[in-house]
Amino acid sequence: MGFLYRSTRNANETATASQAILKGLAEEGGLFVPDELPLLDVPFEELAAMNYKEVAFEVMSRMLTDFTDEELHYCIDGAYDSKFDTDLIAPVKYHHGAYILELFHGKTIAFKDMALSILPYLMTTAAKKNGIDKEIVILTATSGDTGKAALAGFADVPGTRIAVFYPKSGVSPIQEKQMVTEKGKNTFVAGITGNFDDAQTGVKNMFQDKELAKELSDKGFQFSSANSINIGRLVPQIVYYVYSYTRLVAAGTINAGDEINIVVPTGNFGNILAAYYASLMGLPVHKFICASNDNKVLYDFFSTGKYDKNREFILTSSPSMDILISSNLERLIYRIGGNDAEKNSQLMKSLAENGSYEITDEMKHSLFKFYGNYANTEEVADTIRKVYEEDGYIIDTHTSVAVSVYDKYKEETGDTIPTIIASTASPYKFTRSVMTAIDGSYDSMEDFELVDKLCELSRVKVPTAIEEIRTAPVVHDTVCDKEDMEKVVKNFLGM
Ligand SMILES: *Cc1c(COP(=O)(O)O)cnc(C)c1O
Repeated sequence: MGFLYRSTRNANETATASQAILKGLAEEGGLFVPDELPLLDVPFEELAAMNYKEVAFEVMSRMLTDFTDEELHYCIDGAYDSKFDTDLIAPVKYHHGAYILELFHGKTIAFKDMALSILPYLMTTAAKKNGIDKEIVILTATSGDTGKAALAGFADVPGTRIAVFYPKSGVSPIQEKQMVTEKGKNTFVAGITGNFDDAQTGVKNMFQDKELAKELSDKGFQFSSANSINIGRLVPQIVYYVYSYTRLVAAGTINAGDEINIVVPTGNFGNILAAYYASLMGLPVHKFICASNDNKVLYDFFSTGKYDKNREFILTSSPSMDILISSNLERLIYRIGGNDAEKNSQLMKSLAENGSYEITDEMKHSLFKFYGNYANTEEVADTIRKVYEEDGYIIDTHTSVAVSVYDKYKEETGDTIPTIIASTASPYKFTRSVMTAIDGSYDSMEDFELVDKLCELSRVKVPTAIEEIRTAPVVHDTVCDKEDMEKVVKNFLGM
């Protein structure tokens, strides 16, 4: 049967992996976490000889212990196929003194595809295993990329429906176009007049509403989540850190067992938490470098031990990281607090009531492997231009936050050990910001002229995801106040 997951806010609430995936969120707003991470007891040399799917199986079978081998193979084979534009799934490339882990080769050209390609398979398999006869309604808040990746994953998947909320004025034009042109018959998309935190809070509130759950249940529905609060998102994200490390072993860049650094452009803290979980499973990591944009709540947290969201919400050129409440940080807080649900609940209560909390010195000491810093919009643009001028490689704004912060880290510490930088989106997704960083005069061009120019400069083929939206009609035009999210969801479900 394997191990259970436990709520970060109630030690008595446990779930199998498949139950945790189905539920998404625990009661009382808690997140499901494993008590201890299982060891990845396969030699790195052996993993180095495996392809992406094989590595995925080794990692995921240890984390999702109530799935059979057959079920997992079915999920993995269904997810990591020709939807990705390279057999490598997540290629590692050397530029600007670091190993850039390209996580944007999936259907919607952002790293969210890495997990959201497999989540629908995990979810429908979990439903079958647990004898669920209700239709699963995926509720999703997005800062831009989760939305389309989740829509693409769940579109027309039998037994599911999906509703996505995004901040109407807080995503890039291409991100918005990708979402509102979604054709899946079981999909619903709405912009809200608020920011990402408002969308995420609205979704979390619906999850916690017992009356609403009852009403849904009577109509044959049950909610689940495609946000990174769902462990079905986190577990597939552990895979690519193990995969990229073992590619470096295979290339002879490092020896099995050598430490590396991992740099992650961070918003909701899901991606970097997956790197941390990979290290708890045995991946040798020297530093986790947490890169923020101007919404630098995490940088302040790592510097002071105080998490404080009471500040202005800034719209930046890296919108997928415009977040002040990093949900997955709770999983780290819970762990460094000694897996103490009581203690964690107190801190999260303080966050909900006062917008802030402060960890103890002891907890702070256990964060010694984390380094936080941030880059402002101007630095992000400078770095895009600099990296392009070096060897013609073009990175997106989020990746540029990470590269900028890595440059600062190197300058501060003189550390030269091999470093993997998570590249979380294709530059095609943020064409205007990327192209005007390279040359300000491009700003006069139309969105799709910029796409063609980017193709010319980077000599990277325009991704299918972009070609598709050139002419696609808008299907979704709902805009609602954040107070009305529940109403529009009910409307979508015909309730
Ligand atoms: C979601 C996203 C991030 C932030 O990842 P988290 O897991 O939320 O920290 C960074 N970059 C891009 C392009 C994203 O879509």
